[in-house]
Amino acid sequence: MIRKFDFLVIGGGVAGMSFALKVANSGKGKVALVCKTTLDETNTSKAQGGIASVTNLKVDNFEKHIEDTMIAGDFISDRNAVEHVVRNAPKAIDDLVKWGVNFDKTPEGQFDLHREGGHSEFRILHHKDDTGFEIQRGLMNAVRTNKNITVLENHFAVEIITQHHLGIEVTRKTPDIECYGAYILDPDTHKIDTFLSRVTLMATGGTGAVYATTSNPNIATGDGIAMVYRAKGTVKDMEFVQFHPTVLYNPAETHPAFLITEAMRGYGGVLRLPNGEEFMQKYDKRLSLAPRDIVARAIDREMKLHGLNHVCLDVTHKDAEETKKHFPHIYAKCLTIGVDITKEYIPVCPSAHYMCGGIKVDLNGESSIHRLYAVGECSCTGLHGGNRLASNSLIEAVVYAKSAAEHAVRVIDDYQFNDKVPEWNDEGTMSNEEKVLIAQDEREVGQIMSNYVGIVRSDLRLHRAWKRLDLLYEETEELFKRVKATRDICELRNIINVGYLITRQAIERKESRGLHYTVDYPKHAYDL
Ligand SMILES: Cc1cc2nc3c(=O)[nH]c(=O)nc-3n(C[C@H](O)[C@H](O)[C@H](O)COP(=O)(O)OP(=O)(O)OC[C@H]3O[C@@H](n4cnc5c(N)ncnc54)[C@H](O)[C@@H]3O)c2cc1C
Repeated sequence: MIRKFDFLVIGGGVAGMSFALKVANSGKGKVALVCKTTLDETNTSKAQGGIASVTNLKVDNFEKHIEDTMIAGDFISDRNAVEHVVRNAPKAIDDLVKWGVNFDKTPEGQFDLHREGGHSEFRILHHKDDTGFEIQRGLMNAVRTNKNITVLENHFAVEIITQHHLGIEVTRKTPDIECYGAYILDPDTHKIDTFLSRVTLMATGGTGAVYATTSNPNIATGDGIAMVYRAKGTVKDMEFVQFHPTVLYNPAETHPAFLITEAMRGYGGVLRLPNGEEFMQKYDKRLSLAPRDIVARAIDREMKLHGLNHVCLDVTHKDAEETKKHFPHIYAKCLTIGVDITKEYIPVCPSAHYMCGGIKVDLNGESSIHRLYAVGECSCTGLHGGNRLASNSLIEAVVYAKSAAEHAVRVIDDYQFNDKVPEWNDEGTMSNEEKVLIAQDEREVGQIMSNYVGIVRSDLRLHRAWKRLDLLYEETEELFKRVKATRDICELRNIINVGYLITRQAIERKESRGLHYTVDYPKHAYDL
């Protein structure tokens, strides 16, 4: 089946919905918003801390937020992108409020601002401790009630459509690659439909599920990044993967793993080996209160050194009632796996949390492929550089969604639907009876990435990962040609592609910088 929408939005998190709402009211045509599961299953709805914006001009200013972001990014952020996000953040907050999102306020009616690690001022807007859930709720309501937006849940985007599908050779050197829409799997017919668009937005979120343990939901398989890479678009900064130091170690729950907030270490939690030995004194004089990256690296090293699946966080020395009062969710959650945190250590391990790199875009959110924009975690605007400053990702998505929407609305009349695009051809393919292959390969990718391309890297481990991924790539591509496309095989292809990109770009960076740490090049290139 062929379907036509002026704007095709792939992804229903903060990025996709903000863009959809902007273009839907432009009078330039109809919008389809597709997401691969239900609209509420996103990284967005998991965000807890909040969203950064300078709003209290009595003590804060744009320059301070810009500087904090540059420092966090280890001075390889693109300053233009940083300025763009920081200076446009207050307007983006206005948009969210207009769309029905609530932020906590003081009794005087000002935003109640938090301060987080790396921020020199109080500038984090929040809604209790479930800001992302509130943003998702507000935007879902606005999107569902907008008559110009058709929401298509459980629709899986398989590939974007370019000249390649018209039989024209497209390489990474082809100057004018164009996107004409996407091939999308219909959940009812199990057939792949052709969605033609005049403008397409990629807003497919993060890549955490490429690793064995992640704080991201299952959907975070980096589909958009893989699709754009396969279509010969530019993908950048993939080596910069942010790991959260402490999620609950629970082999039954790895996607998403339950976050043990860093506030627990602030409360007095002590990191220990399972035998009770402390280890942070070997790494940083701030001990368990050291910054996120240092703690994650220390835990990773101790786990590798002792062959452990986890280390422990100890709050047993704190008053039991205080602990239950401060951390009721964590207390209840740990009880479900038989751990009473007032009496026993919490088993914790690091997990993949945020992808700083992705589809390279300019200040308009436009990718290297014409008619294709990318916004949110799947994009690489240059804001984060080597590391993301806390709470900068939600705001980046809203600011760039607006820039991309404004640009797309300005240029859309130059683009027509391409009616020459052929329908998806799956002649000669059969149903895949070998589900075990996919499940096993997915596990293997997770293990390879966590063990060889994790927090601490080396040339040896990276090259080993590359070789293993190469083999999985060959086998999976061969299987993909033979069987009917389903969500699981498509996701497997995507995590292999994304794993490959992280590994290759990590091999190319011959220095330790930001989130990329390698024992072979322990210093910045400029220090050498
Ligand atoms: C536990 C946790 C806490 C966080 N806390 C914060 C915080 O406090 N502040 C902050 O700024 N950031 C935080 N982040 C990061 C932030 O939540 C994300 O970066 C951001 O929400 C990403 O939004 P997005 O719209 O790009 O993607 P998502 O919200 O992940 O949405 C992705 C969408 O793409 C769809 N999709 C994916 N692939 C396909 C496909 N093939 N076909 C169709 N649809 C597809 C999905 O169905 C989904 O609708 C946190 C993240 C996590 C996991």
